[in-house]
Amino acid sequence: MFAVFGNPVAHSWSPQIHQCFASQEGRQLVYERRLVPIDSFADKVQEFFRSGGVGANVTVPFKTEAFQLADEVSERAQAAQAANTLFMRNGRLYADNTDGVGLVRAIEQVANYGLCDKRILLLGAGGAAQGVIQPLLNQRPASISIANRTVTKAEKLAAKFATSWLPVNEIKPDYDVIINATSGSLQGEMMPIDLAVLARAELVYDMMYGSEPTLFLQQAQQAGCRQTVDGLGMLVAQAAESYYLWHGFRPDINDVVLALRQQMDQP
Ligand code: NDP
Repeated sequence: MFAVFGNPVAHSWSPQIHQCFASQEGRQLVYERRLVPIDSFADKVQEFFRSGGVGANVTVPFKTEAFQLADEVSERAQAAQAANTLFMRNGRLYADNTDGVGLVRAIEQVANYGLCDKRILLLGAGGAAQGVIQPLLNQRPASISIANRTVTKAEKLAAKFATSWLPVNEIKPDYDVIINATSGSLQGEMMPIDLAVLARAELVYDMMYGSEPTLFLQQAQQAGCRQTVDGLGMLVAQAAESYYLWHGFRPDINDVVLALRQQMDQP
């Protein structure tokens, strides 16, 4: 049995995505949503694995707690200080983080864009940003610069990963790739970024997704950016990596992104 733990969790697409993967290899799968009270994450996870649970995904707001709860963690989870995938390994609770590899695969395999030698601007310094920096660095970009509303957080992340940071009002049109890892689009808000910065970029990626382009992507399109992509590919690709960890099968990502997009577009 598999499940995604979150609060809220009703919006999660994980059950549909994992069922799509399972049907690719003809596997029967039980994958549920588990709404967890804010103060009961550890109890619920332990209960799940005691009662035969095999793997769990973890979403907002429990990723840090999942990392702290584990007996052992992967290098990716260590770098992110957060986990979105849990399972038992040799009798011990093991935590991994597949968000970063999900973003990289979504950019390279779904959006068909190579990151090597590119100048990357990462907006945001929250959990998602922290989880993607090392996997992005592994692609050997020319540089990664971090900008965040709260400057001290950008500074701290840049120091941790030996990369650079800059204040939002000093961002110049110097970047090939801009990745929005802020949750600003959720509130219909975004950083005050010069349109010339968006226009100069070859790819603007927003980790958020929905049936309509996010506010951030709309601005990039209006500015004339050549390629704008939302976070649906990342969502599917991070799930595919969890699926691989649990079942040893690498699902096809592109078909599932297309299927979900069609589902989202339905009224
Ligand atoms: P956090 O709450 O940890 O961080 C939020 C970040 O957004 C902070 O950097 C915060 O800045 C910034 N922010 C929030 N509101 C605004 C605003 N109005 N203007 C400018 N900056 C703002 O969230 P996460 O890092 O976990 O998630 C970030 C986004 O990534 C979410 O939208 C989430 O849905 C998405 N995501 C998508 C995934 C996918 O698979 N597609 C996977 C993981 C995340 P400050 O530090 O100043 O508060």
